[in-house]
Amino acid sequence: MTNAPARTRVAPSPTGDPHVGTAFMALFDLAWARKTGGRFVLRIEDTDQARLVPGSEQQIYDSLRWLGLSPDESPEVGGPYAPYKQSERLDTYRPFVDQLVEAGHAYYCWCSSERLAELREEQNRQKLSTTGYDRLCVGKTREERAALPGFTDRPVVRMLIPDDAPLEFTDIIRGTVKAPRPDDQVILKADGFPTYHLAVVVDDHLMGINTVVRGEEWISSTPKHVLLYQWLGWETPGFAHMPLLRNTDKSKISKRKNPAARLMWFKENGYLPEAVRNFLQLLGYAGDEENEVSTFEEFVERFSWDKVNTVGPIFDVKKLDWLNGHYLRLLSADELADRIATFASETGQWADPTPRQLEILRSAVPIIQERLVLLKDALPQLDFLFADDADLTVADDAFASLPDGAAEVLDAAVAALAEGPFDAEAIQAALREQIVEGLGLKPRVAFGPVRVAISGRKVSPPLFESMEILGRESSLERLRALRARL
Ligand code: GLU
Repeated sequence: MTNAPARTRVAPSPTGDPHVGTAFMALFDLAWARKTGGRFVLRIEDTDQARLVPGSEQQIYDSLRWLGLSPDESPEVGGPYAPYKQSERLDTYRPFVDQLVEAGHAYYCWCSSERLAELREEQNRQKLSTTGYDRLCVGKTREERAALPGFTDRPVVRMLIPDDAPLEFTDIIRGTVKAPRPDDQVILKADGFPTYHLAVVVDDHLMGINTVVRGEEWISSTPKHVLLYQWLGWETPGFAHMPLLRNTDKSKISKRKNPAARLMWFKENGYLPEAVRNFLQLLGYAGDEENEVSTFEEFVERFSWDKVNTVGPIFDVKKLDWLNGHYLRLLSADELADRIATFASETGQWADPTPRQLEILRSAVPIIQERLVLLKDALPQLDFLFADDADLTVADDAFASLPDGAAEVLDAAVAALAEGPFDAEAIQAALREQIVEGLGLKPRVAFGPVRVAISGRKVSPPLFESMEILGRESSLERLRALRARL
Protein backbone atom coordinates (compact mmCIF):
# COMPACT_ATOMS: atom_id res chain seq x y z
CA MET A 1 0.00 0.00 0.00
CA THR A 2 1.58 3.27 -1.04
CA ASN A 3 0.73 6.40 0.81
CA ALA A 4 -0.05 8.43 -2.31
CA PRO A 5 -2.98 10.78 -1.66
CA ALA A 6 -5.99 8.51 -1.56
CA ARG A 7 -9.31 9.36 -3.14
CA THR A 8 -11.85 7.29 -1.29
CA ARG A 9 -15.61 7.23 -1.50
CA VAL A 10 -18.68 5.93 0.18
CA ALA A 11 -21.50 5.18 -2.22
CA PRO A 12 -24.76 4.54 -0.41
CA SER A 13 -28.10 4.01 -2.10
CA PRO A 14 -30.84 6.17 -0.59
CA THR A 15 -33.23 3.29 -0.11
CA GLY A 16 -34.21 3.83 3.54
CA ASP A 17 -32.77 4.94 6.84
CA PRO A 18 -29.00 5.08 6.48
CA HIS A 19 -27.32 1.88 7.66
CA VAL A 20 -24.64 1.94 10.33
CA GLY A 21 -22.37 0.25 7.79
CA THR A 22 -22.38 3.46 5.75
CA ALA A 23 -20.82 5.32 8.68
CA PHE A 24 -18.40 2.46 9.27
CA MET A 25 -17.16 2.72 5.67
CA ALA A 26 -17.12 6.50 5.79
CA LEU A 27 -14.96 6.45 8.91
CA PHE A 28 -12.31 4.33 7.22
CA ASP A 29 -12.61 6.27 3.97
CA LEU A 30 -12.11 9.56 5.74
CA ALA A 31 -9.28 8.30 7.93
CA TRP A 32 -7.34 6.94 4.96
CA ALA A 33 -7.93 10.12 2.97
CA ARG A 34 -6.72 12.23 5.91
CA LYS A 35 -3.72 9.99 6.55
CA THR A 36 -2.55 10.30 2.95
CA GLY A 37 -3.57 13.91 2.38
CA GLY A 38 -6.28 12.80 -0.07
CA ARG A 39 -10.01 13.43 -0.40
CA PHE A 40 -13.13 11.62 0.72
CA VAL A 41 -16.08 11.60 -1.68
CA LEU A 42 -19.74 10.80 -1.09
CA ARG A 43 -21.60 9.54 -4.15
CA ILE A 44 -25.30 8.80 -4.14
CA GLU A 45 -26.09 5.60 -6.03
CA ASP A 46 -29.72 6.02 -6.99
CA THR A 47 -30.04 4.14 -10.26
CA ASP A 48 -32.57 1.74 -8.79
CA GLN A 49 -35.37 4.27 -8.91
CA ALA A 50 -38.01 1.82 -7.69
CA ARG A 51 -36.26 1.45 -4.34
CA LEU A 52 -35.71 5.14 -3.56
CA VAL A 53 -37.10 6.39 -0.27
CA PRO A 54 -37.82 10.11 0.03
CA GLY A 55 -35.77 11.79 2.73
CA SER A 56 -33.19 9.04 2.83
CA GLU A 57 -30.57 11.04 0.91
CA GLN A 58 -30.86 13.96 3.33
CA GLN A 59 -30.54 11.57 6.26
CA ILE A 60 -27.29 10.27 4.82
CA TYR A 61 -25.84 13.80 4.70
CA ASP A 62 -27.17 14.69 8.14
CA SER A 63 -26.03 11.58 9.92
CA LEU A 64 -22.51 11.71 8.47
CA ARG A 65 -22.29 15.37 9.44
CA TRP A 66 -23.51 14.53 12.93
CA LEU A 67 -20.71 11.98 13.27
CA GLY A 68 -18.09 14.42 12.04
CA LEU A 69 -17.56 12.31 8.91
CA SER A 70 -18.59 14.83 6.29
CA PRO A 71 -17.20 14.23 2.82
CA ASP A 72 -14.94 16.65 0.98
CA GLU A 73 -16.99 16.22 -2.20
CA SER A 74 -20.65 15.24 -2.44
CA PRO A 75 -23.95 16.14 -4.10
CA GLU A 76 -24.50 18.52 -1.21
CA VAL A 77 -21.16 20.38 -1.24
CA GLY A 78 -20.23 19.79 -4.87
CA GLY A 79 -16.67 19.28 -6.10
CA PRO A 80 -14.57 18.99 -9.25
CA TYR A 81 -16.25 15.79 -10.44
CA ALA A 82 -19.87 16.87 -9.99
CA PRO A 83 -22.55 15.67 -10.35
CA TYR A 84 -22.10 13.13 -7.56
CA LYS A 85 -25.52 11.60 -7.90
CA GLN A 86 -25.87 8.79 -10.43
CA SER A 87 -29.36 9.77 -11.55
CA GLU A 88 -27.84 13.06 -12.71
CA ARG A 89 -25.11 11.25 -14.67
CA LEU A 90 -27.23 8.99 -16.86
CA ASP A 91 -25.72 10.32 -20.11
CA THR A 92 -22.28 9.39 -18.82
CA TYR A 93 -22.76 5.62 -18.90
CA ARG A 94 -24.24 4.94 -22.31
CA PRO A 95 -21.10 5.52 -24.43
CA PHE A 96 -19.19 3.00 -22.34
CA VAL A 97 -21.92 0.42 -22.90
CA ASP A 98 -21.69 1.00 -26.65
CA GLN A 99 -17.93 0.72 -26.50
CA LEU A 100 -18.15 -2.63 -24.69
CA VAL A 101 -20.74 -3.96 -27.15
CA GLU A 102 -18.64 -2.91 -30.15
CA ALA A 103 -15.58 -4.59 -28.69
CA GLY A 104 -17.54 -7.82 -28.18
CA HIS A 105 -17.28 -7.70 -24.39
CA ALA A 106 -20.98 -7.13 -23.96
CA TYR A 107 -24.13 -8.11 -25.87
CA TYR A 108 -27.80 -7.27 -26.15
CA CYS A 109 -30.16 -9.71 -24.54
CA TRP A 110 -33.83 -9.76 -25.59
CA CYS A 111 -34.94 -12.55 -23.32
CA SER A 112 -38.21 -11.75 -21.58
CA SER A 113 -38.40 -11.89 -17.81
CA GLU A 114 -40.80 -14.82 -18.19
CA ARG A 115 -38.19 -16.77 -20.14
CA LEU A 116 -35.51 -15.96 -17.58
CA ALA A 117 -37.79 -17.08 -14.74
CA GLU A 118 -38.54 -20.35 -16.52
CA LEU A 119 -34.86 -20.88 -17.19
CA ARG A 120 -34.07 -20.42 -13.51
CA GLU A 121 -36.83 -22.79 -12.49
CA GLU A 122 -35.63 -25.43 -14.89
CA GLN A 123 -32.04 -25.07 -13.65
CA ASN A 124 -33.22 -25.38 -10.06
CA ARG A 125 -35.30 -28.43 -10.87
CA GLN A 126 -32.39 -30.15 -12.57
CA LYS A 127 -30.02 -29.03 -9.81
CA LEU A 128 -27.50 -27.99 -12.46
CA SER A 129 -24.01 -27.07 -11.32
CA THR A 130 -23.73 -24.17 -13.75
CA THR A 131 -26.69 -21.90 -13.47
CA GLY A 132 -27.29 -18.41 -14.78
CA TYR A 133 -28.08 -17.01 -18.16
CA ASP A 134 -27.78 -19.55 -21.00
CA ARG A 135 -26.55 -17.06 -23.62
CA LEU A 136 -29.39 -17.64 -26.03
CA CYS A 137 -28.92 -14.10 -27.37
CA VAL A 138 -25.16 -14.22 -27.88
CA GLY A 139 -24.20 -13.72 -31.52
CA LYS A 140 -27.76 -13.07 -32.65
CA THR A 141 -29.16 -10.01 -34.36
CA ARG A 142 -32.43 -8.61 -33.14
CA GLU A 143 -34.27 -10.24 -36.08
CA GLU A 144 -32.71 -13.65 -35.47
CA ARG A 145 -33.61 -13.49 -31.81
CA ALA A 146 -37.14 -12.21 -32.49
CA ALA A 147 -37.90 -15.41 -34.38
CA LEU A 148 -37.40 -17.44 -31.18
CA PRO A 149 -39.73 -17.69 -28.19
CA GLY A 150 -39.38 -15.58 -25.03
CA PHE A 151 -38.51 -12.39 -26.90
CA THR A 152 -39.01 -8.87 -25.60
CA ASP A 153 -38.62 -5.64 -27.48
CA ARG A 154 -36.75 -3.92 -24.69
CA PRO A 155 -33.32 -5.52 -24.42
CA VAL A 156 -30.77 -5.34 -21.63
CA VAL A 157 -27.02 -5.41 -22.15
CA ARG A 158 -24.97 -8.16 -20.53
CA MET A 159 -21.26 -8.68 -19.96
CA LEU A 160 -19.80 -11.64 -21.88
CA ILE A 161 -17.76 -13.17 -19.09
CA PRO A 162 -14.83 -15.01 -20.72
CA ASP A 163 -13.89 -18.54 -19.68
CA ASP A 164 -10.58 -17.34 -18.37
CA ALA A 165 -12.01 -14.42 -16.37
CA PRO A 166 -9.65 -13.61 -13.50
CA LEU A 167 -11.32 -14.74 -10.30
CA GLU A 168 -8.58 -13.67 -7.91
CA PHE A 169 -7.74 -10.17 -6.86
CA THR A 170 -5.59 -8.54 -4.24
CA ASP A 171 -7.46 -6.98 -1.39
CA ILE A 172 -5.80 -4.31 0.72
CA ILE A 173 -7.04 -5.91 3.93
CA ARG A 174 -7.31 -9.57 2.99
CA GLY A 175 -4.46 -10.15 0.53
CA THR A 176 -5.32 -12.60 -2.26
CA VAL A 177 -9.04 -13.18 -2.43
CA LYS A 178 -10.82 -15.73 -4.61
CA ALA A 179 -14.35 -15.13 -5.80
CA PRO A 180 -16.80 -17.38 -7.66
CA ARG A 181 -17.17 -17.20 -11.41
CA PRO A 182 -19.68 -14.52 -12.30
CA ASP A 183 -22.74 -14.90 -14.48
CA ASP A 184 -23.20 -12.71 -17.59
CA GLN A 185 -24.04 -9.66 -15.50
CA VAL A 186 -26.58 -7.15 -16.81
CA ILE A 187 -24.91 -3.74 -17.08
CA LEU A 188 -27.66 -1.76 -18.79
CA LYS A 189 -31.29 -2.29 -17.84
CA ALA A 190 -34.26 -2.26 -20.19
CA ASP A 191 -35.20 1.21 -18.93
CA GLY A 192 -31.82 2.54 -20.08
CA PHE A 193 -30.44 2.87 -16.54
CA PRO A 194 -27.07 1.33 -15.86
CA THR A 195 -26.89 -1.30 -13.14
CA TYR A 196 -24.76 -0.77 -10.05
CA HIS A 197 -21.91 -2.80 -11.55
CA LEU A 198 -21.39 -0.58 -14.56
CA ALA A 199 -22.11 2.69 -12.82
CA VAL A 200 -19.79 1.98 -9.90
CA VAL A 201 -16.86 1.25 -12.19
CA VAL A 202 -17.45 4.20 -14.51
CA ASP A 203 -17.95 6.63 -11.64
CA ASP A 204 -15.08 5.39 -9.53
CA HIS A 205 -12.83 5.78 -12.56
CA LEU A 206 -14.12 9.17 -13.67
CA MET A 207 -14.03 10.49 -10.11
CA GLY A 208 -10.42 9.42 -9.70
CA ILE A 209 -11.19 7.00 -6.87
CA ASN A 210 -8.07 4.95 -6.21
CA THR A 211 -9.15 3.14 -3.03
CA VAL A 212 -12.53 1.44 -2.92
CA VAL A 213 -13.56 0.73 0.67
CA ARG A 214 -16.76 -1.28 0.93
CA GLY A 215 -18.44 -4.17 2.71
CA GLU A 216 -17.35 -7.76 2.19
CA GLU A 217 -20.68 -8.55 0.53
CA TRP A 218 -19.18 -6.99 -2.59
CA ILE A 219 -16.25 -9.41 -2.84
CA SER A 220 -18.18 -11.66 -5.22
CA SER A 221 -18.81 -8.69 -7.53
CA THR A 222 -15.21 -7.59 -7.71
CA PRO A 223 -14.15 -9.92 -10.58
CA LYS A 224 -16.86 -8.33 -12.76
CA HIS A 225 -15.62 -4.90 -11.84
CA VAL A 226 -12.01 -5.84 -12.53
CA LEU A 227 -13.05 -7.12 -15.98
CA LEU A 228 -14.84 -3.87 -16.73
CA TYR A 229 -11.74 -1.88 -15.75
CA GLN A 230 -9.62 -4.05 -18.03
CA TRP A 231 -12.01 -3.87 -20.98
CA LEU A 232 -12.30 -0.12 -20.69
CA GLY A 233 -8.52 0.19 -20.46
CA TRP A 234 -8.55 1.78 -17.01
CA GLU A 235 -6.33 1.28 -14.02
CA THR A 236 -7.98 -0.85 -11.34
CA PRO A 237 -8.28 0.84 -7.95
CA GLY A 238 -7.27 -0.82 -4.69
CA PHE A 239 -10.08 -2.71 -2.98
CA ALA A 240 -10.49 -2.86 0.78
CA HIS A 241 -13.41 -5.08 1.74
CA MET A 242 -14.43 -4.36 5.29
CA PRO A 243 -15.95 -7.05 7.50
CA LEU A 244 -19.69 -7.07 8.01
CA LEU A 245 -20.80 -5.98 11.46
CA ARG A 246 -22.48 -8.73 13.46
CA ASN A 247 -25.03 -8.99 16.23
CA THR A 248 -23.99 -10.59 19.52
CA ASP A 249 -25.42 -13.86 18.17
CA LYS A 250 -22.96 -13.47 15.25
CA SER A 251 -25.68 -12.95 12.64
CA LYS A 252 -25.19 -10.14 10.14
CA ILE A 253 -26.46 -6.86 11.49
CA SER A 254 -29.61 -5.82 9.68
CA LYS A 255 -32.12 -3.04 10.14
CA ARG A 256 -34.87 -5.61 10.43
CA LYS A 257 -33.31 -7.47 13.33
CA ASN A 258 -31.32 -4.84 15.17
CA PRO A 259 -32.50 -1.27 15.71
CA ALA A 260 -28.88 -0.20 16.11
CA ALA A 261 -28.30 -0.99 12.43
CA ARG A 262 -30.10 2.28 11.73
CA LEU A 263 -27.71 5.19 11.96
CA MET A 264 -30.48 7.46 13.22
CA TRP A 265 -31.05 5.15 16.18
CA PHE A 266 -27.89 6.40 17.87
CA LYS A 267 -28.98 9.98 17.72
CA GLU A 268 -32.56 9.22 18.70
CA ASN A 269 -31.39 7.34 21.77
CA GLY A 270 -29.06 9.96 23.09
CA TYR A 271 -25.64 8.71 22.11
CA LEU A 272 -22.97 11.31 21.57
CA PRO A 273 -21.52 11.36 18.07
CA GLU A 274 -18.00 11.20 19.46
CA ALA A 275 -18.85 7.97 21.32
CA VAL A 276 -20.41 6.39 18.23
CA ARG A 277 -17.42 7.38 16.13
CA ASN A 278 -15.02 5.95 18.69
CA PHE A 279 -17.12 2.77 18.85
CA LEU A 280 -16.90 2.33 15.07
CA GLN A 281 -13.14 2.81 15.27
CA LEU A 282 -12.96 -0.04 17.77
CA LEU A 283 -15.14 -2.28 15.62
CA GLY A 284 -12.70 -2.00 12.77
CA TYR A 285 -9.65 -3.04 14.73
CA ALA A 286 -9.38 -6.27 16.65
CA GLY A 287 -8.14 -6.19 20.22
CA ASP A 288 -6.76 -2.67 20.23
CA GLU A 289 -7.52 -2.51 23.96
CA GLU A 290 -4.77 -0.06 24.81
CA ASN A 291 -6.17 2.56 22.52
CA GLU A 292 -9.79 1.93 23.30
CA VAL A 293 -10.62 5.58 23.79
CA SER A 294 -9.17 7.71 21.06
CA THR A 295 -9.94 10.79 19.06
CA PHE A 296 -10.38 10.69 15.32
CA GLU A 297 -7.00 12.42 14.96
CA GLU A 298 -5.31 9.68 16.99
CA PHE A 299 -7.12 7.08 14.92
CA VAL A 300 -5.79 8.66 11.74
CA GLU A 301 -2.31 8.88 13.21
CA ARG A 302 -2.22 5.15 13.95
CA PHE A 303 -4.30 4.11 10.93
CA SER A 304 -3.21 0.89 9.30
CA TRP A 305 -5.10 -1.47 7.00
CA ASP A 306 -3.16 -4.38 8.55
CA LYS A 307 -5.01 -3.92 11.79
CA VAL A 308 -8.47 -4.26 10.28
CA ASN A 309 -10.42 -7.28 11.46
CA THR A 310 -11.53 -9.66 8.76
CA VAL A 311 -13.77 -11.59 11.12
CA GLY A 312 -17.07 -9.76 11.47
CA PRO A 313 -16.79 -7.59 14.57
CA ILE A 314 -19.52 -8.01 17.17
CA PHE A 315 -21.67 -4.98 17.62
CA ASP A 316 -21.73 -4.82 21.39
CA VAL A 317 -24.01 -2.05 22.59
CA LYS A 318 -22.72 -2.44 26.16
CA LYS A 319 -19.34 -1.27 24.99
CA LEU A 320 -20.95 1.66 23.24
CA ASP A 321 -22.85 2.56 26.42
CA TRP A 322 -19.60 2.52 28.33
CA LEU A 323 -17.96 4.78 25.77
CA ASN A 324 -20.94 7.10 25.83
CA GLY A 325 -20.71 7.45 29.60
CA HIS A 326 -17.04 8.17 29.21
CA TYR A 327 -17.60 10.94 26.68
CA LEU A 328 -20.49 12.37 28.70
CA ARG A 329 -18.15 12.79 31.66
CA LEU A 330 -15.55 14.55 29.55
CA LEU A 331 -18.00 17.36 28.86
CA SER A 332 -18.20 20.38 31.12
CA ALA A 333 -21.48 20.57 33.01
CA ASP A 334 -22.57 23.47 30.83
CA GLU A 335 -21.80 21.62 27.63
CA LEU A 336 -23.65 18.58 28.87
CA ALA A 337 -26.66 20.70 29.81
CA ASP A 338 -26.65 22.15 26.29
CA ARG A 339 -26.47 18.72 24.71
CA ILE A 340 -29.32 17.44 26.89
CA ALA A 341 -31.45 20.47 26.05
CA THR A 342 -30.75 20.17 22.31
CA PHE A 343 -31.47 16.46 22.39
CA ALA A 344 -34.68 17.03 24.33
CA SER A 345 -36.04 19.63 21.96
CA GLU A 346 -34.98 17.72 18.82
CA THR A 347 -36.67 14.53 19.97
CA GLY A 348 -39.75 16.22 21.41
CA GLN A 349 -38.86 15.29 24.99
CA TRP A 350 -39.08 19.00 25.64
CA ALA A 351 -41.32 20.97 23.34
CA ASP A 352 -40.31 24.46 24.39
CA PRO A 353 -38.29 24.71 27.59
CA THR A 354 -38.77 27.80 29.73
CA PRO A 355 -35.76 29.76 30.99
CA ARG A 356 -36.56 28.46 34.47
CA GLN A 357 -36.41 24.84 33.24
CA LEU A 358 -33.09 25.50 31.55
CA GLU A 359 -31.78 27.00 34.76
CA ILE A 360 -32.85 23.95 36.76
CA LEU A 361 -31.23 21.69 34.18
CA ARG A 362 -27.96 23.60 34.41
CA SER A 363 -27.82 23.32 38.17
CA ALA A 364 -28.86 19.66 38.13
CA VAL A 365 -26.46 18.32 35.52
CA PRO A 366 -23.56 17.89 37.94
CA ILE A 367 -25.60 15.53 40.11
CA ILE A 368 -26.39 13.14 37.27
CA GLN A 369 -23.29 13.45 35.14
CA GLU A 370 -21.32 10.79 37.00
CA ARG A 371 -23.80 8.02 36.22
CA LEU A 372 -25.56 9.14 33.08
CA VAL A 373 -25.33 6.72 30.14
CA LEU A 374 -27.61 8.24 27.51
CA LEU A 375 -28.79 11.79 26.91
CA LYS A 376 -32.36 10.55 26.75
CA ASP A 377 -32.23 9.41 30.39
CA ALA A 378 -31.34 12.83 31.77
CA LEU A 379 -34.71 14.57 31.87
CA PRO A 380 -36.66 11.54 33.14
CA GLN A 381 -34.17 11.28 36.00
CA LEU A 382 -34.70 14.94 36.83
CA ASP A 383 -38.44 15.18 36.23
CA PHE A 384 -39.21 15.75 39.95
CA LEU A 385 -37.09 18.90 39.88
CA PHE A 386 -39.19 20.35 37.08
CA ALA A 387 -42.55 19.41 38.61
CA ASP A 388 -44.60 21.91 40.59
CA ASP A 389 -44.78 20.82 44.20
CA ALA A 390 -48.52 20.30 43.97
CA ASP A 391 -48.11 18.12 40.87
CA LEU A 392 -45.45 15.79 42.19
CA THR A 393 -46.75 12.26 42.04
CA VAL A 394 -45.47 9.70 44.48
CA ALA A 395 -45.00 6.36 42.78
CA ASP A 396 -46.98 3.50 44.30
CA ASP A 397 -43.93 1.39 45.04
CA ALA A 398 -42.25 4.38 46.68
CA PHE A 399 -45.25 5.00 48.89
CA ALA A 400 -45.46 1.32 49.77
CA SER A 401 -41.80 1.34 50.78
CA LEU A 402 -42.31 3.88 53.57
CA PRO A 403 -41.39 2.41 56.95
CA ASP A 404 -43.67 2.54 60.00
CA GLY A 405 -42.00 5.57 61.52
CA ALA A 406 -42.17 7.63 58.31
CA ALA A 407 -44.43 10.30 59.82
CA GLU A 408 -42.01 10.89 62.63
CA VAL A 409 -39.07 11.06 60.22
CA LEU A 410 -40.84 13.63 58.05
CA ASP A 411 -41.77 15.76 61.06
CA ALA A 412 -38.18 15.68 62.21
CA ALA A 413 -36.96 16.60 58.71
CA VAL A 414 -39.31 19.59 58.54
CA ALA A 415 -38.09 20.77 61.90
CA ALA A 416 -34.43 20.26 60.96
CA LEU A 417 -34.68 22.27 57.77
CA ALA A 418 -36.85 25.13 58.91
CA GLU A 419 -33.87 27.40 59.26
CA GLY A 420 -30.11 27.55 58.82
CA PRO A 421 -28.06 27.36 55.63
CA PHE A 422 -29.61 25.35 52.77
CA ASP A 423 -26.78 23.84 50.75
CA ALA A 424 -26.33 20.09 50.28
CA GLU A 425 -23.78 19.77 53.03
CA ALA A 426 -25.81 21.73 55.57
CA ILE A 427 -28.97 19.81 54.66
CA GLN A 428 -27.23 16.52 55.16
CA ALA A 429 -25.74 17.61 58.50
CA ALA A 430 -29.07 18.88 59.79
CA LEU A 431 -30.95 15.74 58.77
CA ARG A 432 -28.30 13.48 60.24
CA GLU A 433 -28.41 15.27 63.51
CA GLN A 434 -32.20 15.29 63.81
CA ILE A 435 -33.10 11.94 62.32
CA VAL A 436 -30.14 9.58 62.44
CA GLU A 437 -28.87 10.74 65.78
CA GLY A 438 -32.06 12.31 67.16
CA LEU A 439 -34.35 9.37 66.36
CA GLY A 440 -31.63 6.74 66.44
CA LEU A 441 -32.40 5.43 62.92
CA LYS A 442 -30.11 3.88 60.33
CA PRO A 443 -29.37 6.38 57.50
CA ARG A 444 -31.13 4.19 54.95
CA VAL A 445 -34.31 4.14 57.00
CA ALA A 446 -33.93 7.76 57.96
CA PHE A 447 -33.52 9.21 54.50
CA GLY A 448 -35.90 6.90 52.65
CA PRO A 449 -39.07 8.88 53.48
CA VAL A 450 -37.29 12.14 52.73
CA ARG A 451 -36.30 10.83 49.30
CA VAL A 452 -39.83 9.67 48.58
CA ALA A 453 -41.22 13.04 49.64
CA ILE A 454 -38.75 15.04 47.56
CA SER A 455 -38.61 12.93 44.38
CA GLY A 456 -41.72 10.75 44.54
CA ARG A 457 -39.45 7.77 43.92
CA LYS A 458 -37.49 5.10 45.74
CA VAL A 459 -34.40 5.82 43.69
CA SER A 460 -33.35 9.32 42.73
CA PRO A 461 -30.28 11.37 41.97
CA PRO A 462 -28.29 12.44 45.07
CA LEU A 463 -30.85 13.60 47.62
CA PHE A 464 -29.24 16.54 49.39
CA GLU A 465 -28.04 18.12 46.15
CA SER A 466 -31.54 17.70 44.75
CA MET A 467 -32.98 19.51 47.78
CA GLU A 468 -30.51 22.33 47.41
CA ILE A 469 -31.64 22.79 43.81
CA LEU A 470 -35.30 22.70 44.79
CA GLY A 471 -34.72 25.22 47.57
CA ARG A 472 -36.04 25.35 51.11
CA GLU A 473 -39.59 26.29 50.36
CA SER A 474 -40.26 23.52 47.86
CA SER A 475 -38.44 20.95 49.91
CA LEU A 476 -40.48 21.74 53.02
CA GLU A 477 -43.67 21.81 50.99
CA ARG A 478 -42.97 18.32 49.68
CA LEU A 479 -42.02 16.93 53.08
CA ARG A 480 -45.24 18.30 54.55
CA ALA A 481 -47.35 17.02 51.67
CA LEU A 482 -46.20 13.45 52.15
CA ARG A 483 -46.56 13.77 55.93
CA ALA A 484 -50.15 14.85 55.45
CA ARG A 485 -50.92 11.62 53.59
CA LEU A 486 -49.79 9.40 56.42
N1 GLU B 1 -24.36 1.42 -3.69
C1 GLU B 1 -23.66 0.34 -3.06
C2 GLU B 1 -24.31 0.10 -1.70
O1 GLU B 1 -25.35 0.61 -1.46
C3 GLU B 1 -22.19 0.67 -2.95
C4 GLU B 1 -21.28 -0.51 -2.95
C5 GLU B 1 -19.85 -0.05 -3.17
O2 GLU B 1 -19.34 0.63 -2.27
O3 GLU B 1 -19.26 -0.37 -4.20
O4 GLU B 1 -23.83 -0.56 -0.84
